[in-house]
Amino acid sequence: MNTRDPCSVVCILIDGVLHDVLQDLLDRGDLPNLSRWVIEPGGLTAGTTVFPSTTGIAYIPILFGCYPGLGDVPGIRWFDRGGTSGGPLARWRAARSYCGPQAGWINRDITHGRSLFELVPESLAICTPITRGLRRGAHLIPVRRALHGAAAHYCRSYPALDRAVASAWVAAAARPWRFLFVVFPGPDGLTHLYDPGHPRVGESCRQIDRALGDFMARALKTGECPTLFVVADHGASPVSEHRDVALELEAMGVATIRHPLHLWRRKARAAVMVSGNGAAHVYFLDALAEVSDLRERLVALPGVALAAYRDGRDGVIVARAHFRARLMDHGERVTYEPLLGDPLGLGRLLKVDDRELLARSLATDFPDAPRQLLQLLASSRSGDVVLAAERGVDFRGAWELPEHRSGHGSLIADHMVVPIAASVPLPDVPLRTVDLMPTMLEALGGQIPDGLDGVPVSRLGAPAGVAL
Ligand SMILES: [Zn+2]
Repeated sequence: MNTRDPCSVVCILIDGVLHDVLQDLLDRGDLPNLSRWVIEPGGLTAGTTVFPSTTGIAYIPILFGCYPGLGDVPGIRWFDRGGTSGGPLARWRAARSYCGPQAGWINRDITHGRSLFELVPESLAICTPITRGLRRGAHLIPVRRALHGAAAHYCRSYPALDRAVASAWVAAAARPWRFLFVVFPGPDGLTHLYDPGHPRVGESCRQIDRALGDFMARALKTGECPTLFVVADHGASPVSEHRDVALELEAMGVATIRHPLHLWRRKARAAVMVSGNGAAHVYFLDALAEVSDLRERLVALPGVALAAYRDGRDGVIVARAHFRARLMDHGERVTYEPLLGDPLGLGRLLKVDDRELLARSLATDFPDAPRQLLQLLASSRSGDVVLAAERGVDFRGAWELPEHRSGHGSLIADHMVVPIAASVPLPDVPLRTVDLMPTMLEALGGQIPDGLDGVPVSRLGAPAGVAL
């Protein structure tokens, strides 16, 4: 019996899996179902995610078609300056963190647009941190997600969490739905515990592939073949050094609000909010006379790959060591103006189309950095200075439980490059994860709303292998 709309879409988000890891497993024939149902009819490409490249925040482009800056949720942690003058509860609220009791607040904090769940009411989702727009009962296994998620975090039982997701996914195959969003957190959790290429991450991917096979076998009994999309929200790289930016500021004599215990820091003059842990927003809380001096000291901190801040004239200054450049957003076009050296490695003064700059930036150390820094600093909730970590470094102390042996969040290629696969042909041009939402909406036969940051892939060029 056919119970499903012929225009149905499944988006499988494999949290934190690297493009190279997935490609390597595919080359070895270890992911036969991904090959058969997704890559062979469509394709796989190395796309780019958003900055900060971290779970939750990097789901916003996939579900809303906009960057975190436009959505006004600039990090997994950010600081609400309006809450600093209140009592203890207001101050706890102001130090926003979606890791913990405030996790659900991300749904109401996103200020722009409507999610795919809102646009496609016949949606189901499994294990997503963003649930806005899902109908009652459409977020499957929320209790098991909470219990397994906590156990996985502290007891390393990610395979059990992914098994719970897989069984709910296979069971959902027989239900009526048009959009099904499935999240597998295992690869990211295991990457933090070990490294991105660890055999346990590979086994986690094979487990997901087996679930895909089971799901398809069941889905084809109850309807036509859905259009499949497979994506990761961010990459990752090993961490060998923890450099806590808040402690660096304290060492400079600046009392600093920070998670998890110093949210009520007396006489605080700064706040540091870390994402990933390779990104940090630094907020200056009073008109510090020495702001520009502090900013320079932050830029020069060991482990900082890039820093960015607003120039007060609608531009953004990007800093790498003593190099400086200015970025300006003109909508479709972006200006990159080297002022001292060439911090982004783009070569010279450029005023080019956004997509052309994306393509040029892919060969640099910081893929899509111009657009990503502009989008992030457009949010008034972003810090006065935004920092991106060098490879091998993150911005939180070794006290984190469990200690992160690998991480993400930064603007470096290891964190920004992600696999994007679809069972429909993909164009032979650079793609961003933000392009997926309008592409999926198109496959669902829906109207694409105005004002999105993403572009459906059908408007981006000819499919790979098709001569123009
Ligand atoms: Zn992670």
